[in-house]
Amino acid sequence: MPPPSPVPVRPFAAQPFNVMAKPTGSICNLNCTYCYYLEKAKLHPDNYRHQMTPEIQERFIRDYIESQPTEVVQFVWQGGEPTLLGLKFFQRAVELQRKYANGKTIENALQTNGTLLNDEWAAFFAENKFLVGISLDGPREIHDAYRVTRNNRPSFDAVMRGVECLTRNQAEFNTLTVVGAHNMNQPREVYRFLKDIGSRFLQFIPLIERPGRPQDLPLKLAGPPHPGDGDTYDQVTEWSVRPSAYGQFLITIFNDWVKRDVGRVYVQIFDVALNAWVGNEPPLCVFRRECGSALVIEHNGDVYSCDHFVYPQYRLGNLMNTSLGAMAKAPDQYEFGRAKSATLPRQCRECDVRFACNGECPKHRFLSTSDGEPGLNYLCAAYKKFFHHIDPFMQVMAHLLERQRAPAEIMTLIRKGKMPQK
Ligand code: SF4
Ligand code: SF4
Repeated sequence: MPPPSPVPVRPFAAQPFNVMAKPTGSICNLNCTYCYYLEKAKLHPDNYRHQMTPEIQERFIRDYIESQPTEVVQFVWQGGEPTLLGLKFFQRAVELQRKYANGKTIENALQTNGTLLNDEWAAFFAENKFLVGISLDGPREIHDAYRVTRNNRPSFDAVMRGVECLTRNQAEFNTLTVVGAHNMNQPREVYRFLKDIGSRFLQFIPLIERPGRPQDLPLKLAGPPHPGDGDTYDQVTEWSVRPSAYGQFLITIFNDWVKRDVGRVYVQIFDVALNAWVGNEPPLCVFRRECGSALVIEHNGDVYSCDHFVYPQYRLGNLMNTSLGAMAKAPDQYEFGRAKSATLPRQCRECDVRFACNGECPKHRFLSTSDGEPGLNYLCAAYKKFFHHIDPFMQVMAHLLERQRAPAEIMTLIRKGKMPQK
């Protein structure tokens, strides 16, 4: 392993931050078995309208652009299902972004289940250069295991129609694949399928939820452990991924990718790992030493610490009273982000792959270490195995990069038998 080298980190107050917008709150036209966000509707009164108003939309766009210290400002629209708001909402969003851009470059990414897309949406995305993330868990049988409509009907065909519209209109898209009990043992099928439909940017998200306890009511899922509070309730739902399977899932896909697809297919976790091996801070919150710069704004202007922590105790305020910049730099938010490293158990602090893992997300830290210390990540075994496995390859690719050569050259080295054949 390369030693973790010190990385210059900007002072907290000068760091850019991201705000993921949920303009429909948790409302969605699907009813995926595993969704952790659908039940957030219970945190609002009945008959409540989950829709970002024009006033909040305009304030958000203006404030977010003004608050960013960078020349490029990226908007991320998510849900629930954001396309439920209709195209007009996003046409207006683009107009408002132009109005308030003030010379900055504005980018948009939108995460969708894809089922409501048509040629009109796709043409809009292409024209306005939206990066569209499609939630797709694999081939039909895998995808339909949990991603179902409100009438419990499969959604695969509707998603694929959406993908065809995007392809036909040359709108850029990538895929987000939730890895759980339904696909954790079929990594090859999932990877091939995603490549076959034209995805060249793949994100894999481990599915980990704990069933709710009495204190979690009215929610059916348990809230995340608060960093450092010693929560070691370690039951997981039947649809959650198992650590050993997740490690093997990543390894299997990595083995295919490193032989054939480096430089051609972008798999987020491999790219993030390469950054770590090069000596950079991993560019994804879950693998960074500290986090706290990925906020969420709900449809009503409420702002929360993170998408995984949309609970009343993590509410930072409301956009209509407080600026995004003030909420992002608030002491509570600083402490939230700092806790990611401050509460790491000794096993993580002394771990040889800490530079790449950093204990992953605090939401998943509900195991005890071998010596009984709380705060170990549920996926520890997966990451340890995966990061050890990729180490020789990452060292070679990092070395190539250092010499200003393409990491893709590793594929030639493997073909010539100069790397271990895995
Ligand atoms: S709590 Fe987890 S998902 Fe949220 S910002 Fe921190 S690492 Fe990222
Ligand atoms: S691999 Fe395990 S011990 Fe090492 S940093 Fe990650 S969670 Fe901690």
